[in-house]
Amino acid sequence: MMIMGNSERPEMKAGTPEIDYATCTGCGNCEDFCPTGAVKLVNGKPVLVHPENCSYCTECEAVCPSGAIKCPFDIILVTRPEPEANC
Ligand code: SF4
Ligand code: SF4
Repeated sequence: MMIMGNSERPEMKAGTPEIDYATCTGCGNCEDFCPTGAVKLVNGKPVLVHPENCSYCTECEAVCPSGAIKCPFDIILVTRPEPEANC
């Protein structure tokens, strides 16, 4: 369990999916199910050909039968100023 002070708030940060080519079988599911066309098979292996289009929906991770594509999120604690009390 994570205990945070009053002024600390977790913030989610998404990058781009990570592909493990050692376990990827080249089945093409990630390309077929990607709603934005961000990932395509190139020479039988998935490549983020348009990373700027990736919405980080995590669909590619969900449909990968070998767990070769992952969408890890970073959780970052940020400190924000306390809101001023309204009297
Ligand atoms: S996270 Fe979503 S948009 Fe990004 S590559 Fe995977 S399926 Fe496509
Ligand atoms: S769904 Fe998984 S195994 Fe299939 S091509 Fe994509 S990363 Fe490779």
